[in-house]
Amino acid sequence: MALNYELSPHLVAWELTRACQLHCRHCRARALRHRNPDELTLEEVEGVLDAMSTFDPLPRIIFTGGDPLERDDLSAIIAAAVHRGHAVALAPSVTPRLTRPVLAEWAARGVGAVSLSLDGATPAIHDGFRGVPGTHTRTLEMARGVVEAGMHLQINTTVSAYTAADLVPLGTLVPTLGVSSWELFFIIPTGRAAATAWRGEDQDTVLGWLARYRAEVAFRVTAVGAPQFARYSDPELRPGRPPVMREARGMMFIDHVGDVYPSGYLPLSAGNVRNRPAPALYRESGLFRGLRDNDRLAGRCGHCAWTSVCGGSRARAYAVSGDAWAEDPNCLLPV
Ligand code: SF4
Repeated sequence: MALNYELSPHLVAWELTRACQLHCRHCRARALRHRNPDELTLEEVEGVLDAMSTFDPLPRIIFTGGDPLERDDLSAIIAAAVHRGHAVALAPSVTPRLTRPVLAEWAARGVGAVSLSLDGATPAIHDGFRGVPGTHTRTLEMARGVVEAGMHLQINTTVSAYTAADLVPLGTLVPTLGVSSWELFFIIPTGRAAATAWRGEDQDTVLGWLARYRAEVAFRVTAVGAPQFARYSDPELRPGRPPVMREARGMMFIDHVGDVYPSGYLPLSAGNVRNRPAPALYRESGLFRGLRDNDRLAGRCGHCAWTSVCGGSRARAYAVSGDAWAEDPNCLLPV
């Protein structure tokens, strides 16, 4: 079925809690050691899931954090989402809470995929980035556990000035893990990531390499925060070519207290699910509608032949300029 991004997101990323025991350099969430008492309750989560049943088709939900395993009602939340027909994925932190029995329970409850963060081929880069020694070894162990439990494994890699030099060896390691998907997150200078500067020239080099890499592997390879990857991986601009997913266009983020954002990296909220149903915020809010309106884009993104497909990263535009409709400063396409 062709997706109409005006009506339904393809992906809802849902931050169940901001609590986490890791301390990652790039953390979008500025994670906390303890849960916020104002987090959405299980009953409220179920209410939001009921409201989202009006999306057609139902979006895929990825429960993230913080660390979703910090919630003692996580099993009930998974059951509620699976029961309502959503494809459910989990993005846990690799801490002692994540074990093979936990993975087996998720698989039994109907979780289809688990994404794990892996930012380097060796412990030196990954553990330095994640802030806890031993995390790299445990991540590889849990990656094998995900596959053995019968779920799809997605590896998430943050691409920044700190990790980019290790991407080639990481590209050799990732296929050995049995992945279904490798998702590369091109850093947005927000949260703790503000300190990891990232230049357009570097991004251009990485996207070119990634396009060649993607052509050679059998699993899915995607670039988050870099919608211009579309023109690297398939340079032909055919009429009617569908838009790639980006902030508010196929994507919605719900934070731990119910505030709704176009993505986890664009800190402009359309409202809160405690006051207005999530589908109304996605379809009708001025923020979401505005971000889907390519006519509002400025600078090079406003005059680019690729606007309807790409449109640039709205999160990066906002992080750098304070204007979510400004040009994506990391795109080097001459227009
Ligand atoms: S100028 Fe903007 S719309 Fe055009 S390819 Fe670059 S980021 Fe995408």
